[in-house]
Amino acid sequence: MVGVVTDTDERLRRPATLRSLSLGEMKVTYLPDGVVPLAPRGWLPETSDAVWADHPEYLDESGYLVASIGGLLVQAGDRAMLIDAGFGPGSLPPEPGDPRGTVQGGALLDGLAAVGCPPERIEAVAFTHLHVDHIGWAPRGVFPEADHLVAEPEWSGRSHIVAHGTTEEMLAALAPRVRTVRDGEEIFPGVRVLFTPGHTVGHTGYVISSGGQRLVAFGDALHSPIQVDHPQWRAASDHDAGLSGASRRRVVAELERPDTIGYGVHFADVVFGRVRRDGDGPGWRPLP
Ligand SMILES: [Zn+2]
Repeated sequence: MVGVVTDTDERLRRPATLRSLSLGEMKVTYLPDGVVPLAPRGWLPETSDAVWADHPEYLDESGYLVASIGGLLVQAGDRAMLIDAGFGPGSLPPEPGDPRGTVQGGALLDGLAAVGCPPERIEAVAFTHLHVDHIGWAPRGVFPEADHLVAEPEWSGRSHIVAHGTTEEMLAALAPRVRTVRDGEEIFPGVRVLFTPGHTVGHTGYVISSGGQRLVAFGDALHSPIQVDHPQWRAASDHDAGLSGASRRRVVAELERPDTIGYGVHFADVVFGRVRRDGDGPGWRPLP
């Protein structure tokens, strides 16, 4: 499809940059850590070549989806927490036949420094799940004051996580600081747990509410904005395809509600957006 290349198209195929937005009295900031390229047909196995021929705007020059890696800093006055902790410094090459390319990380602490929030100020790190591109910096002990919040079913089912890059040693380093959380629990002023299982056994999102606005941090329930229009498309790495499909539909329904902003940690450089169903454009409308 030949068309006018828009600024949004360019953002769909580059990794995210540091972005902040206000939500009522709160401030949220995307802290980029790195990037991983995803082979589109391998990562979303229900798609076809025809899908990607129709949507080249999502693919970089090598034909890959561009998945950002990072964390979300949530600030309320002088209090601060993180949702996910990136991959950490270094890289992880793919296994043979893996639809993902090399994972690269390492920038997250630079972003914290850039916004003037020392890691000692982080009082909690809430994980969407225990994959290595989400726990990243935490086992390295860089957040000395932070509780490590994990959905109860994710922690009790953590044996499923090992062998996907997360090691026993990483989980052992987290363990003394882990506090498990329940669906609906308020973990920070205005921040509640929203269980969205399927990608992993206990995958969870978080809903931040302030001043009549909501932000839904949906983690790896969706990896690409194209799934907003096709929530039936699972990721190859989903632990339970049936459960992940139900969670994707639930997340998209939540995003269609008024006064709601979505946050997709892996959504290229369009991590913040709203879902709109007017006209025939894509459902995911990135914030400027
Ligand atoms: Zn991930």
